[in-house]
Amino acid sequence: MNEPVYLDHNATTQPGPEVLEEMLDSLRTVWANPSSTHAPGQAARRALTDARARVATFLGCQGAELVFTSGATEANHMAVLGALALGRERGRTRLVLSAVEHPGLLALAARLKAEGQPVDLIPVNAQGQLDLEAARGLIRDDVALVSVMGANNETGVLMPVAELAALAHAAGSPLHVDATQLVGKTTARFDAGGADLWSVSAHKLHGPKGIGALVVRKGLVWPALFSGRQERQRRGGTENMPGILGFAAAAERAGLTLADDLARMRSLQARLEGGLRAALGDVHLYGAQAERLPNTSCLRFGTLDAEQVLGRLERSGVVASSGAACTASGTQPSHVLLAMGETPLQAKASVRLSLGRETRADDIDRAITAAVQAIGPLLEPARPAAEPQAA
Ligand code: PMP
Repeated sequence: MNEPVYLDHNATTQPGPEVLEEMLDSLRTVWANPSSTHAPGQAARRALTDARARVATFLGCQGAELVFTSGATEANHMAVLGALALGRERGRTRLVLSAVEHPGLLALAARLKAEGQPVDLIPVNAQGQLDLEAARGLIRDDVALVSVMGANNETGVLMPVAELAALAHAAGSPLHVDATQLVGKTTARFDAGGADLWSVSAHKLHGPKGIGALVVRKGLVWPALFSGRQERQRRGGTENMPGILGFAAAAERAGLTLADDLARMRSLQARLEGGLRAALGDVHLYGAQAERLPNTSCLRFGTLDAEQVLGRLERSGVVASSGAACTASGTQPSHVLLAMGETPLQAKASVRLSLGRETRADDIDRAITAAVQAIGPLLEPARPAAEPQAA
């Protein structure tokens, strides 16, 4: 049987062969502690410095601006908690986030709010675009941090980073961008966007899980979450060498073909969305009018429940995710789609199809055929199933 078509690249990506090779090699050859002063330690230190430079080149930052973390969740925490600690010294207390941030960041904000921390959420419109007028009203001179994702993980809608940077800086606040979904799916660079802090994660980029970074603009002194001497006192703990070297291999590889990958994904995205609409008719595309990532299609098939759709798709050979957050108690409607004005029923019907570097036209055609087979009969009134579009 064919491998399933994997359309869940916003959740994670398969580590590339060069990543596996470099990680395994690092465990064999540079396993010494990079803080040790003996020769094996110094060899590990050199490998770390080299990996830092390779990741920095890809992200468009300096090596010294990179603080390796366990992933974007930790980087987001470091950004927010660091900003609040710094803000307290300057009489700045308010945290301003978008309403559609990653659930981990929103959960942190909710916890802080319950402890008395002032938190404001910038709303989005029905297309998932940030309400800049509302942002203007919320970003005042009592703000400790403005934090917004570069691209939404559910809808792929891009956020106005340059405009927010201008607003934040005019109010004397740093801007943190959760760039987890931007990296490898756009040509965005840290040094060109106006942000002061970037969170990134290697596993969205065909790298390993458990490694990412907070990029901290040169000149900003940022408090550590974990005390210790590593990472210039900004992140204690012996460095995750296989993770960091795997991240470097992934970053380098992504940089080699980025322009081609983006163009291909954009064209496959159009093929997928056009094909599904032509074949199924009752397909709602979230953020259709907005600028979006080239790999993300967040769709609703009538109001068919996402779990049912995904189960049927999987049985037809396509794996994907719902936009909704799965919890132990069941599937909650997506907070992103609720923020866009969808009803809970609609928000529980969203399905996210996210393409990757390895996705090919044949995968898209298989996905359309599978969707026609799996979902077509459930849509009422059913349109006659059409063949997937030719190239
Ligand atoms: N932010 C965004 C926008 C994400 O999509 C994710 C991954 N789902 C994270 C943060 C968390 O990243 P990590 O798995 O590296 O902690």
